[in-house]
Amino acid sequence: MRRLVAAASAVALAAALVLPASAATFSWKVRAPFTLTVVDNVDDPQLRELLAGSVAEWSASVVDLVIGTVRTKGKTGPYVTVSDDVYPDSWSGLTSLSLERGYIKGATIRLNLSWLASSSVTFQQHVICQELGHALGLDHTDDPASCMAPNGDLAHPSAADFATLEAIYGR
Ligand SMILES: [Zn+2]
Repeated sequence: MRRLVAAASAVALAAALVLPASAATFSWKVRAPFTLTVVDNVDDPQLRELLAGSVAEWSASVVDLVIGTVRTKGKTGPYVTVSDDVYPDSWSGLTSLSLERGYIKGATIRLNLSWLASSSVTFQQHVICQELGHALGLDHTDDPASCMAPNGDLAHPSAADFATLEAIYGR
């Protein structure tokens, strides 16, 4: 799932388009190689392990993801925060993008822990993989090999996802 939070100057786009495989909607204003720090604020050892797995898999692309901490003072570089939310609704993950002049300047991934707790580990990995993909600017895809496919439980990024990231961020 994805929720878009647009900066005041940006226009929120409806995500009603039919998109080709591994479509990108937004991008960070950077060129590869670059490192994106993923700040894990979820105090859950199993989810941390799954997050580390997806971070490693996405890092096989032109983008290098690392799990780390970010000091708000003197912060440099882009970062993604991962936090937990507990809602009774049947959603599993949400990624909010903050935009500045059309580019991503921050991303927040929310994981619905109570919902995920009743899901399989494969599905949990699927959700984390997909939300990280959204944080990188990728939209849902019809690629049957990708975790960006919304109706399934594929838990890994695909070669097409990596090609899209290379097209967005170059080398
Ligand atoms: Zn999604």
